[in-house]
Amino acid sequence: MTPENVRLANLRGGLAAVEVGARGIESVARNTACTRLRAIVIVGLTPSEVIKSVFKAEPDIMSPFAMTVTQGYERRLLGNGGSSLLTAYREKGLLTQAEVKITSVEDMAPGTKDPVARNRRVSETQRLIDMKHNGDPRAPNLILNPRMPLDIVGVSHPVELAYMVASDAERSYRIGVIKSFADRGGKTDKSDIRSACREAAVGTLALRQHIARRGGDPEMAEDRVDMVLRAPGSFNPRLFPAMRAESELASLVRALSTAPADLEEVERLLPVGATLADPRVIDRLPNNYRSNCKEHCALWERCRAQALAAGQPIILGDLAAEQLAAAGSISRAIDLMDGRGRPPDNEAEARLAAGLRDAGLVLDRIANG
Ligand code: SF4
Repeated sequence: MTPENVRLANLRGGLAAVEVGARGIESVARNTACTRLRAIVIVGLTPSEVIKSVFKAEPDIMSPFAMTVTQGYERRLLGNGGSSLLTAYREKGLLTQAEVKITSVEDMAPGTKDPVARNRRVSETQRLIDMKHNGDPRAPNLILNPRMPLDIVGVSHPVELAYMVASDAERSYRIGVIKSFADRGGKTDKSDIRSACREAAVGTLALRQHIARRGGDPEMAEDRVDMVLRAPGSFNPRLFPAMRAESELASLVRALSTAPADLEEVERLLPVGATLADPRVIDRLPNNYRSNCKEHCALWERCRAQALAAGQPIILGDLAAEQLAAAGSISRAIDLMDGRGRPPDNEAEARLAAGLRDAGLVLDRIANG
């Protein structure tokens, strides 16, 4: 065990590390101000694992139907030697008839539980990437299920990606992500698309780190990612190649460099001898409940209950949180509106009090005619 791993194991307090994965790392960027989530991810746990092993409860899981669709769709694209995925690239004219080199890293070293197989997948992925960067014409055009380490605050987290793609003429790979939600054109949920791009961008960061470790220019890995969605009502792929992911990359870099930005800071957050295996320690870590927490973090019910107990305006939604920010709590906002309690502490509270009273009068007029 490296010294870092010993420190991480101590922070986990006996809980086994789990792979956070690209999705887990991406979720940190969805709530950069949440120290609780960052600390959990940095030490090698996930919110679902914390719910299960620390709070002894059942985490939210994907519905069996959604899971079947997701797994079936990925199998269709990545199974069978990746032929469906290759067809999608050919149909868009992104790979020619001669660019048919496909390697499945998973087939070379199968097994999710076996640490030897997992390490072999990392070394095979790195070997294939190095072939490409060294100009070897045998380098694959598609690498399926690549596995790469991503260093976060000095701790290496392995990430398994859907695939990497490059034509023979391209210098490096782009990361591809496969999502089973249907492409509904302009009606596809923008936040789903952003989070899929950010998930792929986690792979781009890992690729850039690999290039830097080899002494190359990290910018060789472009800030673009490929996304494959599903055509509505079918399992046919809809490929969206080379989507700009500058802002997703920037938000990830920002999220990963926010405090606690290293292991010492995580250790300093906890009282001496405390570990994340203790539910009271998890509850004491500063959080930042937002209305979208439910979409990506299994701890949302606990964090919402804490926000409710503290009377935080976010319980009423994002708009209310923004408008009542000056008061800081729902009870203070009610006091300001009713003219109870201490007078406004500052100009912002005075403006809020006047605005709430005006809104109350309008509501009275509407309600009482
Ligand atoms: S649910 Fe809680 S821990 Fe998860 S991101 Fe939101 S505030 Fe942070």
